[in-house]
Amino acid sequence: MHIRKTRLLTPGPTPLYPPALHAMMAADIHHRTQDFVKLYKATVNDLKEILVTSHDVIPLVASGTGAMEASVSNLFRRGDKVLVVSAGKFGERWVQIVKAYGLDPIVLKAEYGQAVPASEVTAKLSEPGLRGVFLQASETSTGAAHDVETIGRAVAQTDAILVVDAITGLGTMPLDIEGWGLDVVIGGSQKAFMIPPGLAFLSISPKAWRHAETCDLPHFYFDLKKEAQNAREGQSSWTPSTALLLSLNAALLYVKSIGMERLVENAQLLAKATHAAVARLGLKLFAPDAPGAAVTAVCAPDGMDSGVIVREFRDRFGSIIANGQGSMKGKIFRIAHLGYFDFGDLFSVIAELELILLANGLPVTLGSGVAAAQQVYAEAAIPAGARAGRA
Ligand SMILES: *Cc1c(COP(=O)(O)O)cnc(C)c1O
Repeated sequence: MHIRKTRLLTPGPTPLYPPALHAMMAADIHHRTQDFVKLYKATVNDLKEILVTSHDVIPLVASGTGAMEASVSNLFRRGDKVLVVSAGKFGERWVQIVKAYGLDPIVLKAEYGQAVPASEVTAKLSEPGLRGVFLQASETSTGAAHDVETIGRAVAQTDAILVVDAITGLGTMPLDIEGWGLDVVIGGSQKAFMIPPGLAFLSISPKAWRHAETCDLPHFYFDLKKEAQNAREGQSSWTPSTALLLSLNAALLYVKSIGMERLVENAQLLAKATHAAVARLGLKLFAPDAPGAAVTAVCAPDGMDSGVIVREFRDRFGSIIANGQGSMKGKIFRIAHLGYFDFGDLFSVIAELELILLANGLPVTLGSGVAAAQQVYAEAAIPAGARAGRA
């Protein structure tokens, strides 16, 4: 049809919260002024509030990977033995980073689409001299999620620190930083925080700071100790991304107004409705055993390249959705739920998917997948009395 609105529907970058986008226009402030100090302190405090932690929280000018790298270069020593829990492309990124800094990783791998069972992780914790455990809370490349609580509580009993890439875990699953012993928790602006890419942040526990004391790895721009000291004074070490901090500040006000638990619940309900719709359409989930709520990876129908589906979403409807990464490219497509996604978005995506399947000769009853998603909404948000006998 003739008008198509472009809609960004990927699991990062995610749809932008409009007031957060507008807030960026006030970026004509200098970062060594009281106005900035106020903004920085408020933003860091709001981050601590929604993460529910008293640990230091440090924003960095970087995409999420910068914070992943900083956690390695600031907290470890050359040759440190560490455990990397890897269930997809982002787990593989941990392996690359720790190797780049000369750490000595033991890699516990799951097949794409699976999570590494917590029992496998805890069984490895007796490894002598283990200094750290790295994992993804949510592995965005496959849609699988790890059992962070069990792993966290077990690592807390050891001398190792747990470094959690929660870049798509935050806002899509409960993460009790202090209760579960999560030493480092990493987030990124362009995921559930509803703002553009370019800011990362991480929380650092006292146990992780003790690791930092003996760190012998080179680092300069990402100097976490220096950043933490400065952040307490409302300062960043270097010129910060003022525009993104203004944006984050506005987005955090919104997240606080609805509540972090509600944001998580929103993603989880969208994921549940997606599972129902996909099943109704006869498609298979890529990570059926350990599905997270950040993103649902769906297998393309037999004999069909998922790239065709991704392209038709864009060309027919202006909807930008994600293909698989690496060897999963062409095999899966990914429907995101994290951050500023609502049921209106999901109903559209499922309706568009049905039309795309129809256009490619697949048997589909138009409306059946949408109805399955609507049913999940109805059960969650329409009182039983009101819908008696109707749906
Ligand atoms: C997006 C993402 C990252 C960070 O990627 P960047 O491109 O550096 O922002 C890391 N881990 C996970 C699980 C992600 O989803």
